[in-house]
Amino acid sequence: MSKYKALIGLEMHCEISETNTKVFSSAENSYKDIPNSNIRPVDMAFPGTLPVVNKEAVKMALKASMILNCKQPEYMYFERKNYYYPDLPKGYQITQETKPAPVGIYGSLEYECKGEKKIAVINNLHLEEDAASTDHYSSYSTIDYNRAGVPLLELVTEPCFHSADEAVSFLETMRSIYQYAGISEADSRKGQIRCDVNVSIMDDSLDESDMNNWGTKIEIKNVNSFGGVRDAINYEIDRQTELKENGEYDKMEQQTRRWDEDSLSTIYMRSKVDAIDYKYFVEPNIPKYKISKEWLEEIRKDIPELASERKEKYIEKYGLSDYDATIIVKDKKVSDYYEEVIKLGGNPKKASNWLTSVILGHLNKYDIGINEIYLTPKMLFDIMNMVETGKISSKQSKDVLYKCLSDEKEPQVIVDELGLKQVGDEDTIRPLVIEILDAHLDLIEEYRKGRNVFDFFVGQVMKATRGQANPSLTAKIIKEEIDKR
Ligand code: ADP
Ligand code: MG
Repeated sequence: MSKYKALIGLEMHCEISETNTKVFSSAENSYKDIPNSNIRPVDMAFPGTLPVVNKEAVKMALKASMILNCKQPEYMYFERKNYYYPDLPKGYQITQETKPAPVGIYGSLEYECKGEKKIAVINNLHLEEDAASTDHYSSYSTIDYNRAGVPLLELVTEPCFHSADEAVSFLETMRSIYQYAGISEADSRKGQIRCDVNVSIMDDSLDESDMNNWGTKIEIKNVNSFGGVRDAINYEIDRQTELKENGEYDKMEQQTRRWDEDSLSTIYMRSKVDAIDYKYFVEPNIPKYKISKEWLEEIRKDIPELASERKEKYIEKYGLSDYDATIIVKDKKVSDYYEEVIKLGGNPKKASNWLTSVILGHLNKYDIGINEIYLTPKMLFDIMNMVETGKISSKQSKDVLYKCLSDEKEPQVIVDELGLKQVGDEDTIRPLVIEILDAHLDLIEEYRKGRNVFDFFVGQVMKATRGQANPSLTAKIIKEEIDKR
């Protein structure tokens, strides 16, 4: 047992990707390939321009606030966070920092870590605008303002996590919530999720509910992947433990570090002691407005079934294992695909087997999403149905599915092309069985003496039908014909 325990608090930024336009302008909310092609004068802070609040973005932010069991504010308003940086043309960011401005205040969320239920404590959730993006080259830098003004949700937790596993499980839960609630694709590969991680350690014997016992927190800025979050936390816990052992921990000042992917270490950036004062004040260009109870109710009704609810349904109603249900709900698109197959009438357990054993393997192998494959839910259902009705054997169905994925042809076309069919009817199989038995009378004697030649007979029928006979029906007929003799 370690002598110390870690306290970890997260600040998770997630771009809202599902609105049509930016949070304060009518520019499209999407990154265009061509830099600086997706901007309006207000995104560039041209004189005389004014922000207009995107109602959809506020709605999505309030929806997230409700899912996080936060308190919603009575009035909606924004604040200015003043600082200068080239990616911020106005010289300030429109955000919501000081309470009670944020769309969500004090909440909690249940999440699962390694099969155990845990509670994350939320300090606040606020809506703000993203900054432009910068690229640095050897002798110059470029700025792309396409990202300036993209709606951004920032979630701040209390220091309620004790390990990298807990922090990452929570982040995964949040990503799934954003996806299921139709708020964001929440794709970290697209830079839509960025996290700041705060880490401190304290003696294991001390009471963590007393803030006075907390150690000096170290903030690690802009970690861009969940793997990075995990590594940065583990690295930082080890580093701080070493400082404790050397007696240097208590002398350490609050500081901001960054996670360096190359050296796999956190690197000192600046001390928090001389942190800039952002001089927050209420954004005067956006009037305060009251959020009506009716509107909140409307938004609440619009919250769809989330991953945790779907998972419960898959286990309770469809009889899936916890493991399979977890795998399917992990990616909303996979879960939507699964629901589609079931809606068409597919057997839930069989559809789950297809997904978890074959299709997800294919997606992993080629690193693609389920929407990128040729096989639609309807096609999977058709293949399952062909097996169900005895048209093809289950062994053949795998070949059909793989060929459908590789050749991009409809299942029925593949079945026709390969001349696949399962000889399912007794009238075809029985005469074949009689013929084969007649030719091997000696083996029937052996069989009666206890030698296992049954598989041999089944094999002979399979050979005669080029693998198209239904195996269980064949076995049944062989048994009957031997017993008759
Ligand atoms: P700041 O004023 O530096 O932004 P806050 O009190 O607003 O600090 O907290 C920012 C983040 O730091 C939150 O996620 C919070 O949970 C986390 N945090 C605060 N104290 C600690 C601590 N002792 N250890 C780990 N995380 C902490
Ligand atoms: Mg912020």
